[in-house]
Amino acid sequence: MSELRKKILGETRRLVVKIGSRVLVDSEHGGVRAPWIAGFTESVAKLRAAGKEVVVVTSGAVGTGMAVLGYATKPANIAEKQACAAVGQIDLMHTYREMFQRQGLVAGQILLTADDFRDRARYKNLQNTLNALLAKGVIPVINENDSVAVAEIKVGDNDKLSSDVALFLDADLLLLFTDEDGLFDANPKTHPGARLLQFVPEISAEIMAMAGKVGEAGSAVSTGGMRSKLDAIKAVTKSGCNAFLANGMKTLPHEVVLGDAVGTLFAGAKRKLNSRSRWLSFVSTPKGVLQLDAGAARAVREKHSSVLPVGVTAISGRFREGDLVEVRDPEGNSLARGISLFDAATLKLVLGQKTATVKTRLGADAPEMVIHKNDMVLLS
Ligand code: GLU
Repeated sequence: MSELRKKILGETRRLVVKIGSRVLVDSEHGGVRAPWIAGFTESVAKLRAAGKEVVVVTSGAVGTGMAVLGYATKPANIAEKQACAAVGQIDLMHTYREMFQRQGLVAGQILLTADDFRDRARYKNLQNTLNALLAKGVIPVINENDSVAVAEIKVGDNDKLSSDVALFLDADLLLLFTDEDGLFDANPKTHPGARLLQFVPEISAEIMAMAGKVGEAGSAVSTGGMRSKLDAIKAVTKSGCNAFLANGMKTLPHEVVLGDAVGTLFAGAKRKLNSRSRWLSFVSTPKGVLQLDAGAARAVREKHSSVLPVGVTAISGRFREGDLVEVRDPEGNSLARGISLFDAATLKLVLGQKTATVKTRLGADAPEMVIHKNDMVLLS
């Protein structure tokens, strides 16, 4: 295992490191844990010296701002939470900047929302910006743009943000730092005998079950639990990127990549997905849902056929032509994702209609397909 691990991690060229609020925010006194960031930046400098490209996804804006604005727990009110993020993000970046400077490194801040990933053109621009930063030796430090992102445009939590970033940068490794030593076969907080898994070749249903329920195990300052971490890891490993889960309180990134730090290694799939498939499958958030009848669902599942209006029984969401939509079978299971050639209002007019009727109703130029098979990925 150790040899395999060395081989997998040794091949890392570009890595994305995600640091959670629990590691970054001093929960007792409030504020950023600057000494931790000092050690972290020193570790990043070691990785740079070893020729690795490092991208940081940081949490901690809300948690840091909370103390400054006098909140003991995360405010439930969205605007107040956003106010905390606006205040905390400055402190956070100030600390990163200073600590990276001490290592002779330059940090660059990028704040994102889900819309930056949805729009293919924006997504491309972002890729270019990040590549330009990396080419200049800058360490990108990324967070969600929490002070503007609300429900519809929110990425969600920073576990998802970090997997999105790893996917669009085609990283070789996603390193997630949390306050546990890795993935255990039971919750180590409640089961003292729980065993740490060192190597997970594939995220099976059994592995997912170890993470508990969605939303479980958040804390006063953090958002995601183990479940959201495994969702993020599943997305990247399916696309061919490796992932590692380690305890940020005890471990530094160079100890994982260049040493043999404790944690769980998740192997990426052998076959790498290309940029477009990665975007369709995992990164962008669908704007709407198409429900198919049984025949159309079977054709999509078994033959990867295009979706025609005749097979669509219902739609939801206000999507436009060119937006990403999710395709579901009659039981409501997710089947695929693809780019819709119709906007929602127009598609409503021709649900369940044969092509000839569609053309009669909408004119000869109306598209024959709702989603062309080349613009669709199956979700297995
Ligand atoms: N973006 C949030 C923050 O910086 C954290 C979200 C998360 O931890 O998942 O406070």
